[in-house]
Amino acid sequence: MKVVFLFIDGVGVREPAADNPVNREVCPALCDLIENHSVPIDACLGVDGLPQSATGQATMFTGVNCPAAMGRHCEGFPGPGLRNIIEENNLFLQLKKRGKKIRFADAYLVEAADELVQRRFKSVTTVMALTAPETVSTLGDLLADRALLQDITRATVQERFPEVRPIPPERAAEHLFSIAQEADFTLFEYFQTDVTGHSMDYARACKVLHVYDRFLGTLLGYVRAAGMTLVMTADHGNIENMSERGHTTNPVPFIAVGPHAKAIREKVKSLQDVTPAMLALFDAF
Ligand SMILES: [Zn+2]
Repeated sequence: MKVVFLFIDGVGVREPAADNPVNREVCPALCDLIENHSVPIDACLGVDGLPQSATGQATMFTGVNCPAAMGRHCEGFPGPGLRNIIEENNLFLQLKKRGKKIRFADAYLVEAADELVQRRFKSVTTVMALTAPETVSTLGDLLADRALLQDITRATVQERFPEVRPIPPERAAEHLFSIAQEADFTLFEYFQTDVTGHSMDYARACKVLHVYDRFLGTLLGYVRAAGMTLVMTADHGNIENMSERGHTTNPVPFIAVGPHAKAIREKVKSLQDVTPAMLALFDAF
């Protein structure tokens, strides 16, 4: 059983509209997955206000209703309370306990995982990855094409790291597929969709979604041919409504393709169900 888990930040489900760049011209592969291989799931989790990244992602990767636990939706990087919840139990720890090999494919531009411990601001996935430091990918992994950069094409680091050469999205998909072949569970996180969603710049949103779609379309070909399971979801909506700067309360797509896809989709109604569904999958097969 091999699973590729794509976490995409800030992509909700919304009907076609002039200010919704998630459409077939811009991102055909993603739209096909949303239409034919997904269920819309709840990201608000019974708590008033707009869903936010820290609590949404922490919920996705722990199975704990974090907005309810914190009493509100928390933005950006998790504070001490949320970090405790993540460090106590999370998807990586649970998979590790089951003897599964995990890779977090996003490269950190450091020599070794322990350099991340000192960072003041850590994302949910960083906090989770540090509970199983062997999952972390480094600059060395990126230079050897054993990791991806978070922007897929490596365009955003050219000034700081000229030795990291830009690549087309299709190459990044090849890299992720090779990484996934060596692991039981591979995570790739993409957050340019959320960053761009906040910009209210429609043309920029189309560019970002198109790059992601070239990556996704290529990756899908590989995972389907190899009989891998691909799961993909988002922490909250944003980019699907470019008329609003903030997040949306729209449902997010929960996508599953490949072996056991239907059974996985049937288990998931909200972000809280994602980790339990992943664990049930590994326990059953
Ligand atoms: Zn955001």
